[in-house]
Amino acid sequence: MLRIGCHLSSSKGFLAMGEEAVKIGANTFQFFTRNPRGKKAKELDLTDVADYLEFAKNNGIAQILAHAPYILNPCSKDEGLRQLAYEIMCDDLRRLEYIPGAMYNFHPGSHVKQGVEAGIAYIADTLDRIGEHGYQATVLLETMAGKGSEVGRNFEELRAVIDRVADSSKLGVCMDTCHVFDGGYDIAGHLDSVIQEFDSVVGLGRLKAMHLNDSMNGLGSHKDRHAKIGEGEIGLETFYAIVNHPKLKGLPFFLETPNGLDGYQQEIALLRQAAEPKEAGAKW
Ligand code: FE
Ligand code: FE
Ligand code: ZN
Repeated sequence: MLRIGCHLSSSKGFLAMGEEAVKIGANTFQFFTRNPRGKKAKELDLTDVADYLEFAKNNGIAQILAHAPYILNPCSKDEGLRQLAYEIMCDDLRRLEYIPGAMYNFHPGSHVKQGVEAGIAYIADTLDRIGEHGYQATVLLETMAGKGSEVGRNFEELRAVIDRVADSSKLGVCMDTCHVFDGGYDIAGHLDSVIQEFDSVVGLGRLKAMHLNDSMNGLGSHKDRHAKIGEGEIGLETFYAIVNHPKLKGLPFFLETPNGLDGYQQEIALLRQAAEPKEAGAKW
């Protein structure tokens, strides 16, 4: 069965997200661990977590994805900001200990004027320090569009981070379709060769999740503006090919398209129909 969901607001807690996911036909979801621009996180409500876990078990929600706030910069040249990223990621991962199987996705950061090599070293250092705690969650580096000085604009940069981390056994990658396309990987024209390239540079074993977003801009634009599925430059056919691709089989897919719940529900139905025509009730 296709594992698909979307980004949901975490403001009402875990049970509310689980219920919302099921209502729109999702069997997974992504959420921000805290306000994406803010630093403060609400105290974890353990009753809500317990209610959620029970609900998830009864409704087939297996594994969810937490997203770090995107203001964090684990490769800032400012030591205080790197420390802040480290502390927030640790605090997020500590909370995720209560949600078995949850994964944690983050943006590698921006090197600004230090150069990509320095940025990569700082990110690896932050991950090394986080790794010392032995948190259970798999931590995912997100592929980035290469806006400004974002690290992770190509597969080689992600590989370089992973290679420098002392224990990379709990490190993976989340591939964002808008970001890789904006980064110059032609998933619309040559999906197979992009997957092949990812495999040879990073290794498909590291690919743990995908963000499904169409792009408002063209190949290699480095813009990072998400579009609804089928309404951008990537196009519907590519998303059909992705959810049916044998090498991507079993991955959880998360929509981060500019939609409300109704729009997400439609996109989930559309992609489910493409991936599981029989289960979705098509006539054969
Ligand atoms: Fe992201
Ligand atoms: Fe994303
Ligand atoms: Zn994005």
